[in-house]
Formats: sequence, C-alpha cells, structure tokens
Amino acid sequence: MSDLIPIEDISEINPDVTCSTCRANCCKLEVMLITETGVPERYIKTDKWGSEVMLRLDDGWCAALDRDTHMCSIYEVRPLICREFEMGSFECQEERND
Ligand code: SF4
Ligand code: SF4
Repeated sequence: MSDLIPIEDISEINPDVTCSTCRANCCKLEVMLITETGVPERYIKTDKWGSEVMLRLDDGWCAALDRDTHMCSIYEVRPLICREFEMGSFECQEERND
C-alpha cells in the first residue's frame, strides 16, 4: 500500500520541467493512432493486433523524431496521444527519470 501515489501528486504539473533539457524520452513510448491527424504513412506501422502505431526505429525512438534536434519533425500533424502528453506531468517525469 505504501507504493500508492496520492491522486493530487499524479495530477500536478511540475513547472520546472522543460522539453529543452530532455532527450525526448516520451518519444520512445508506443504511440497508438486513435484519430486521423495526417501523420505521413511512412511513419506508421500496423502492430500484431492490427492497430496503427507510430513506427519506432532500432534506437527505440519514434521514426518521426529529428535525431539531431530531438524535436518532432511532424509537430503540426502529430498524433492525438502526443498532443495530450503534458510536459511536467507525472507521466512525463516518469519518462525523464527512466
Ligand atoms: S514531454 Fe516530458 S518526457 Fe517528453 S520530451 Fe518533454 S520533458 Fe521529455
Ligand atoms: S510523433 Fe512526434 S511527438 Fe509523437 S512520438 Fe513521434 S516524434 Fe514524438
């Protein structure tokens, strides 16, 4: 029970966290395409369950990540899940700490 995290800690955004000091850790997560945002076909893969996900390359990062700048090369048409992944959120900080 002591491992449980209080709800208020999970929903809190840490204002000190910024993507500019992160190597795009969240772009190594599996990203399912649940809406049509215009992601180019070359960055999409169909997984073994038949769902469309962002293709990840051998280095673990999403194929759409610019390896030099660590920025999203398709920012304007990025998937909904990427839009909703909040900088400074609990999930973000979990990825940064990994
Ligand atoms: S959202 Fe969080 S994990 Fe993702 S790049 Fe920004 S700081 Fe890193
Ligand atoms: S689409 Fe962009 S923001 Fe989403 S995982 Fe890929 S590089 Fe990161």
